[in-house]
Amino acid sequence: MAARSHPSPRVAHGGPAGLRPADYPPPEGPEVVAPPSDPEPIEVGVCIVGGGPAGLACAIRLGQAIAEDPARGERLGEIPVVVLEKGKQPGAHLLSGAVVDPRGLTRLFGARVPLSEMPLRGPVPGERVYLLTERRAVPLPTPPTMRNHGNYLASASKLGRWLAGEAERGGAMILGETAAVKLLVEDGQVVGVRTGDKGRGRDGAPLANFEPGSELRARLTVLCEGTQGYLTGAALDHFRLHGSAPQTWELGVKELWRVPGGLDRVIHTLGWPLRAGARFREFGGAFLYPMGDELVTVGMVVGLDYRDPTLSPHELLQQFKTHPAIRPLLAGGERLEWGAKTITSGGALALPRRLHAPGLLLAGEGAGFVNVPALKGIHYALETGLLAAETAFSALTEDGHEQAPAGLGRYDEAVRASELWSELHEVRNMRQVFSRGLVVGGALASLMTLSRGRLPAGPVASEADASVPLLATGSRTGAVAADGVLTFDKLSSVFASGNRTRDDQPNHILLETEVPRRVGELWQNMCPAQVYSLDAGAGAGTVRVEVTPSNCVQCGAISAKGGRLTPPEGGSGPEYEGL
Ligand SMILES: Cc1cc2nc3c(=O)[nH]c(=O)nc-3n(C[C@H](O)[C@H](O)[C@H](O)COP(=O)(O)OP(=O)(O)OC[C@H]3O[C@@H](n4cnc5c(N)ncnc54)[C@H](O)[C@@H]3O)c2cc1C
Ligand code: SF4
Repeated sequence: MAARSHPSPRVAHGGPAGLRPADYPPPEGPEVVAPPSDPEPIEVGVCIVGGGPAGLACAIRLGQAIAEDPARGERLGEIPVVVLEKGKQPGAHLLSGAVVDPRGLTRLFGARVPLSEMPLRGPVPGERVYLLTERRAVPLPTPPTMRNHGNYLASASKLGRWLAGEAERGGAMILGETAAVKLLVEDGQVVGVRTGDKGRGRDGAPLANFEPGSELRARLTVLCEGTQGYLTGAALDHFRLHGSAPQTWELGVKELWRVPGGLDRVIHTLGWPLRAGARFREFGGAFLYPMGDELVTVGMVVGLDYRDPTLSPHELLQQFKTHPAIRPLLAGGERLEWGAKTITSGGALALPRRLHAPGLLLAGEGAGFVNVPALKGIHYALETGLLAAETAFSALTEDGHEQAPAGLGRYDEAVRASELWSELHEVRNMRQVFSRGLVVGGALASLMTLSRGRLPAGPVASEADASVPLLATGSRTGAVAADGVLTFDKLSSVFASGNRTRDDQPNHILLETEVPRRVGELWQNMCPAQVYSLDAGAGAGTVRVEVTPSNCVQCGAISAKGGRLTPPEGGSGPEYEGL
């Protein structure tokens, strides 16, 4: 996001510094930070933006605190806690199939709800890590960061739905199909958010069913938007909170399968179909998780600092499934669901300088709390949401001020004192070293693990994903034809995500549309949902990018690679079912 707010000067096509998507920044969108203007806003105590694990943990912990001390709880007003969720309901935008460290759930519920009563799919039964070549799968010892003994399998989407029920039982008001589109700031203090309009046509004109958005005036706003948070990005810019390293992302594409006999272990793979050469910067891997009831999640994660404009993460997942060691694991099965989402990967060095501003707290993945080597963010989201709630309750009810008072710094102190802070610090350079390729990166990662993060000593330099120069010629080969049984094209996959975006909604993607061919190809191939197509451009070597926004599954990749995803009308996008 730092790169987007301070775009660097344009570099000539193929010039000395190479062609970079960051040189073609998106056009300015509407103001995201704005003063309040509604004379009759809805007054709430705490407004939580995002109904994922972080936002729901925050709501649940606030409900617990209010129940423990109702007299103090009353000071939060008639509507003490509101959660806004842009998906149809909480869980709709959470990708199924996860290995969850139960620590966050245990801390949130204590003895009130044992793990056995939560919608988990059982403990991890065993695990294997393989290095794939095109024909072989070589077993590797499981690196410490990927050990899952004691962790649980879960559908993130189902867990989200269940957490939402718990939050509502604790008194939170949950507003699904509601996107927060503006951060309201008055006299240097966040005072709430504005929600988006519904029922506008493609040209922006109101349709018969038009419903204007509303202003929620909140004593405290907690941003828990997850990856590529729209208001979070604006808040980081406005309050100058960016961390010391640029934030980076990876794109995950996942499928949920029903396979006779299921799967008996968690599998992670490195290597093929990603290339090891440092010049390609192809970092990532694939996974298969058993989900009980013969359900299996299969997915592929690719770092968005890759350089080859012909790389397609969706195609890589399709290719992965055809590997001789993987194909038999899905034999006779049926694909039930498909989805895509980015995962925040900058780690400790990219965390905001502060997690608070006047009237504002930042929690969960939106703030950057993900342990990338372990591919885990759910427990960090739960833990930071919980800590945000504790600070919010004490700050708002002890001081009894009209607006959120001082004292929000206690949240930073609590996060820095927690286990997750030291865990993230130990792996702080882990993602950055892999920009040097699998071999050198792997050696440095081992050094880091053995020294518990002490080596390499300083921060490893990194750059924003969109600032990495593209390769001059794309050289990816091996795209597999979709057979509709094992392998699928993008459009049938978008259908399998349950996408509910209206065809005639306004375009929510901000993008430079006349760009060098390589930049256009990068966007077209990267987008897992076939949103972009290319036409001949006006100048030599350029293309015009046509956008079909109704295909978009809001994965966020375009924001990392030179464009900008803005929140579309609430209720649009995928509807992951949480089987
Ligand atoms: C492919 C992939 C695999 C993963 N595997 C694992 C795993 O195995 N284990 C694990 O622990 N973690 C895993 N993660 C990471 C984990 O899913 C996230 O870190 C975690 O869900 C973050 O929780 P959150 O509440 O911060 O954000 P999210 O879960 O992203 O929730 C944010 C919510 O806010 C909503 N929202 C966003 N902006 C707005 C807005 N402006 N207005 C209204 N609503 C908004 C979104 O729709 C969403 O529902 C994986 C991630 C990916 C992409
Ligand atoms: S257009 Fe939508 S689905 Fe495609 S890359 Fe961008 S955010 Fe993802």
